[in-house]
Amino acid sequence: MLFRSNPLKTFQRALGRHKVLTSPEDLLTYSYDVSSERSTPEMVVLAEAADDIIQSVKFARDEGYRITPRGGGTGMSGGSVPLRQGMVLCTERMNDILGIDEENKTALVEPGVITATVQDEAAKVGLFYPPDPSSHKISSIGGNVAENAGGLRCVKYGTTKHYVQGLEFVSARGELCYTGILDSKNSIPDLTPLLVGSEGTLGIITKISLRLIDTPEARGTLRIFFTSMDYASNSVAEIMAAGILPSVCELMDKAVLDAITAYTGTQLPNNTEALLLIEVDGNREEIKGRVAEIESICNNRQAIEIASTENLEEAEQLWTLRRSISPSLSRLASGKMNEDVSVPRSRIPDLLNEVRRISQRYDLPIPCYGHAGDGNIHVNVMYDADDTLQHQRSLQAIEEVFKEVVRLDGSLSGEHGIGIVKREFMRLQMESAELDTLRKIKESFDPDGIFNPGKIIPEG
Ligand SMILES: Cc1cc2nc3c(=O)[nH]c(=O)nc-3n(C[C@H](O)[C@H](O)[C@H](O)COP(=O)(O)OP(=O)(O)OC[C@H]3O[C@@H](n4cnc5c(N)ncnc54)[C@H](O)[C@@H]3O)c2cc1C
Repeated sequence: MLFRSNPLKTFQRALGRHKVLTSPEDLLTYSYDVSSERSTPEMVVLAEAADDIIQSVKFARDEGYRITPRGGGTGMSGGSVPLRQGMVLCTERMNDILGIDEENKTALVEPGVITATVQDEAAKVGLFYPPDPSSHKISSIGGNVAENAGGLRCVKYGTTKHYVQGLEFVSARGELCYTGILDSKNSIPDLTPLLVGSEGTLGIITKISLRLIDTPEARGTLRIFFTSMDYASNSVAEIMAAGILPSVCELMDKAVLDAITAYTGTQLPNNTEALLLIEVDGNREEIKGRVAEIESICNNRQAIEIASTENLEEAEQLWTLRRSISPSLSRLASGKMNEDVSVPRSRIPDLLNEVRRISQRYDLPIPCYGHAGDGNIHVNVMYDADDTLQHQRSLQAIEEVFKEVVRLDGSLSGEHGIGIVKREFMRLQMESAELDTLRKIKESFDPDGIFNPGKIIPEG
């Protein structure tokens, strides 16, 4: 009698047992990210080199498994959740910085390197990697590239895509491919922009070449309290109109500030309705002038209190309220939908006014904060996770927020990606011809749909 050996066991033996996990506890560990989506894979591969990924893709193709790539699992849109089970392919062990070229100001890194490590290693040689998602101490650079991660400094420095020069990735056929400028290769036309932000649906990134820049000489930080959201938003517009480009421009509304005071006990100035945290960077001489100019603009807009410093330790104090947002909001309710919508900067007041109305209509707190400089606002619908009716109301409230965002010429996601959680809303934002184009791009990279199925593009 002929026995067919178990293909999974054969694969496990070939790759190494320590790299292919199948125990229920291990599978559970890789079944979620920071969204509320959950789905347990059938196996987890902890790749240590591109060759492990090539072998995994070939095995998955032969045996009909789907593959969900995963970095640090900090995504907020369900991107690394294996919706159709199959294999989670995690790059967390591919975490070497392969080199920093000081002369050409580039870094060549593996996808599993933690974002903060890239920043720290660049800083050691006087260079600067600006993209700074708040998750920088836990997210991987591969995940940042796949999501085109943004962060606090986007307003001046742009998002991850502005720093990716080239990529190595494993295709759905299990072949190693290159884009852009990588090592000694220079591929034209450059497919890098298609891969960046593709959320693991087109290929598995195995090497990244990053552009670095010179570290700014100095930094000025300002914390400004306002009596109204309009004064705060208008101050931002005026600062920009004056030709000042802040490196950070964070806005917090009254509901966020109330949550922070309730959690931390911090006393805010009377009548505070909004807060701006602004940073400017550049050479030392310029900074003083810019800080003074921002102070003057905000004073003319009825600022209640302004604190500013060019001392980095004092600046940390001014950041305390901003850094308290997450723990403070998590005390407000057991459920939170944090949607990172984006609207043109001038439409922020319109968005926030409508969110206030939605909050009243659905009787749910919706604190908002975000990167005012580039219109990327985090809208947080808070609800009781054990209350089904509240959960339903929060979904309806979010849909209304998305409709308003599209009406204001904005985008459903400023940085967290579409993943599963915003997939069905893509029709609000894209025409069917545009969605068809996305489908065709996906099909040309991945004709059998093995990479990250069920993400980004709505079905049908
Ligand atoms: C506290 C907190 C704060 C956050 N703040 C920000 C913020 O300021 N800005 C921001 O943009 N995001 C933020 N995020 C969201 C998240 O950190 C980012 O989306 C980040 O880029 C995800 O990286 P990751 O390594 O965790 O990726 P994962 O969550 O593991 O995966 C994210 C997506 O990338 C794909 N992927 C991962 N690795 C690869 C690879 N090697 N090849 C191909 N595809 C891959 C996955 O399939 C998935 O679709 C925050 C998250 C948390 C928890």
